[in-house]
Amino acid sequence: MNYSISDIQSITQSELINPNLFQGDINDIYFDTRRGIRGPKVLFLAIDGKNADGHQYIDFAYHQLHTRNFLVSKDINIDLYPDANFLRSRNVISALQKLAIHHRTKFHLRTIGITGSNGKTIIKEWLFQLCDPFFTIVRSPKSYNSQLGVPLSILRINEEDQLGIFEAGISGQNEMRHLEYIIQPEIGIISNIGDAHSAGFTSLNEKLREKLQLFRKAAKIIYCKDQELVHENLNSRTSHSSKRLSQLIPWSTKDKSAFYFVQYNDHEVKINNDSFTIPFTDNISRENAVFAIIAAIETGLQIPRIQQRCPDLKALKMRLEMKQGIRNCVLINDAYNSDFGALESAINILEQQQKKDRNTLILSQIEESGLDNSEALIRLSEMIKVHQIHRIITIGEKLKSLDSEIEHLHFKDTEALVDNFSSILFDNENVLIKGARKYNLEQIFDLLAIKVHQTILEIDLEAMRHNLTIYRSFLKKDTLLMVVLKASAYGSGSKELSRFLEYQRVHYIAVAYIDEGVELRKSGISTPIMVMNPEESGFAAMVKNKLEPEIYSLNQLEKYISYLDDDVHQVHLKIETGMHRLGISMEEIPSILACLNDNKNIVVKSIFSHLVGSDDPSLDYFSKEQINRFEKAYTLFSIGLDYEPLRHMLNSNGISRFPEYQYEMVRLGIGLHGLTDDLNLKPKLQKVQTLKTKIAQIKEVNAGESVGYNRKYKVKETHKIATINIGYADGLPRNAGNEQYSVLINGQAAPIRGNVCMDMCMIDVKGIDVNVGDEVIIFGKEWPIEKLAEVCGTIPYEILTRLSTRIHRIFTRE
Ligand SMILES: *Cc1c(COP(=O)(O)O)cnc(C)c1O
Repeated sequence: MNYSISDIQSITQSELINPNLFQGDINDIYFDTRRGIRGPKVLFLAIDGKNADGHQYIDFAYHQLHTRNFLVSKDINIDLYPDANFLRSRNVISALQKLAIHHRTKFHLRTIGITGSNGKTIIKEWLFQLCDPFFTIVRSPKSYNSQLGVPLSILRINEEDQLGIFEAGISGQNEMRHLEYIIQPEIGIISNIGDAHSAGFTSLNEKLREKLQLFRKAAKIIYCKDQELVHENLNSRTSHSSKRLSQLIPWSTKDKSAFYFVQYNDHEVKINNDSFTIPFTDNISRENAVFAIIAAIETGLQIPRIQQRCPDLKALKMRLEMKQGIRNCVLINDAYNSDFGALESAINILEQQQKKDRNTLILSQIEESGLDNSEALIRLSEMIKVHQIHRIITIGEKLKSLDSEIEHLHFKDTEALVDNFSSILFDNENVLIKGARKYNLEQIFDLLAIKVHQTILEIDLEAMRHNLTIYRSFLKKDTLLMVVLKASAYGSGSKELSRFLEYQRVHYIAVAYIDEGVELRKSGISTPIMVMNPEESGFAAMVKNKLEPEIYSLNQLEKYISYLDDDVHQVHLKIETGMHRLGISMEEIPSILACLNDNKNIVVKSIFSHLVGSDDPSLDYFSKEQINRFEKAYTLFSIGLDYEPLRHMLNSNGISRFPEYQYEMVRLGIGLHGLTDDLNLKPKLQKVQTLKTKIAQIKEVNAGESVGYNRKYKVKETHKIATINIGYADGLPRNAGNEQYSVLINGQAAPIRGNVCMDMCMIDVKGIDVNVGDEVIIFGKEWPIEKLAEVCGTIPYEILTRLSTRIHRIFTRE
């Protein structure tokens, strides 16, 4: 996009706050300073959202990102920003939508709008993959489908685009109308109607009707007739309202007379008389592929061209992956798309990593910028200049003449880089691998990854962010959030999680021991850190690293004081209310107060205690008793200190079960990982960890033979047994053996036979179609860790925190 700021003012009908407009062009828009675009030719949208108010970040945008154009909805002290434009509108998102509608009407490209409960993004991507070489295409990035995401997607349309593919999602009534004005789709696709996001609607039918608003003026609507509700609704609408002019294009696997009759056979999808080969055999992928193929046909693409593209459809790995690389490198793999916006946000993630000797960017040609090559090169070198990138390795002829002041290595294609790989030094650095899918940069990722153990723990940071949002919904706007990352963040890796949570703007981090806190400071974490069990041997390091101790006794407080200088030091007082672990008893309060009053350089930042049974309704009476005891102790302290420290009492189960006792802060632990004992909350959380491994060997074991140590499993009839690469040394408890627990393989349960060994165990794969190297899920999203914990007589906390460090941790995020 390219608009002058005065155009933007008039199109959005907003008011100029500063006395005179500074003329200039705008070529990009952003709303999150953490993924901000630097430079003066951008517009920052200050959006007052549920979790954050963009107006609070104007200062940062102005000073750090050099933004000089703002669209706001509140009063601004413009004296602070003398050379910036401030446009004010009652509603910033509506103003953006006006701009998008204006932009959309300038272009006459063909547009496809996709809505539905599931599959929108994959259908969009597959349709793109089918049509890519034959049209110039613009599409929504990632799953930008909201009231904010859709206009931002539409603003990407350029002169030369021939086809636009956009997705639209809604969370409440009357939202789709706006999106319809913005997208104006010519062809509509409704993927399906599940019960996801039903909160804003009274019925499924109402939700469906709202979704179909997107197609009010569409020439064609593609849908699956086998979804009866969709079929009925569309057809009754045609009969009731003479205004609907859309041609309905149903497909069906049941009704031979449907416009498109679809049959599946292994990798083959037959649509009427044409056959397409796709690289998937599960029904969800088949359905999504059918939508994409039909949409391509309806867009006018010839069948043989579609047939030729289908076998190469790629599963979406939209998420960026991070893992440990060779020679102490951290690898970030983001080979999903390649446009400037995506590149900038990936670079932001690169910059958020722990400090290393350098940051290296491995980049393939930018494919979707809509700029000619020399402009693209200029934009790229400008981007490199303003970010902390110390070396760039480029792939593809077009990047050869990139002008940059940093070290630049160039290769004509990915193979050339692979061939020369051993001559390039990678050492103690963060490496971002970024490029369009067709360059297959995964090869580079694999070369750089440490290959140790086939067993990995995958940590889904998007799921964690979701859980964080759910817990935040229990909190008042100004309640502070402390996240508890003890025991290496419940086994997942406290460095990585603290980075992520700092980015999510949590207020405090709690760790168990001083070493854990020092590690976090070393990796660059600046969020305040409370240490719950500080030992004297680490007091000096604690003070040096600005870690804040939990104080639980007079004796400990006095020792701590002996390490202090005259600066102000913050501490947290832990009150004994019933756990009888660490804590200050009622009797000790006067002496602690006296000591604090003698040492005014110690500030009590907070006073807290811990519930012993917040997960157990039968102990609610005791939770209340603990709260009473806590409040009594707090009153004594606040009188004696003459100021009011923060109060906090609730852990994860406490937050959802007793939000009325959130006081000024809460401490979230296990809930972040999607685990709770609160049955109302359970279905709303998402599991974060998936533990998986691979099959090492498969053998036919004859009747009469036995499996594993001590012949615990006797084979009754000859069948297949598979050995998998995980044992009790990895953290799979020995109690899980002897059929107590089953793992998941190719969608089926396979019981563990015999005793679990130290590094391996054997599973029964009778009747399951398996091969060596197949993935085996120990626990994950659809295979709950709670079950494993239960059969082993423990709780998920213990399973997670005992996973061996030799298991590779991989982090995924959007
Ligand atoms: C571990 C811990 C928490 C977090 O508890 P969860 O049940 O994981 O939410 C909170 N406060 C203290 C003092 C803890 O030790």
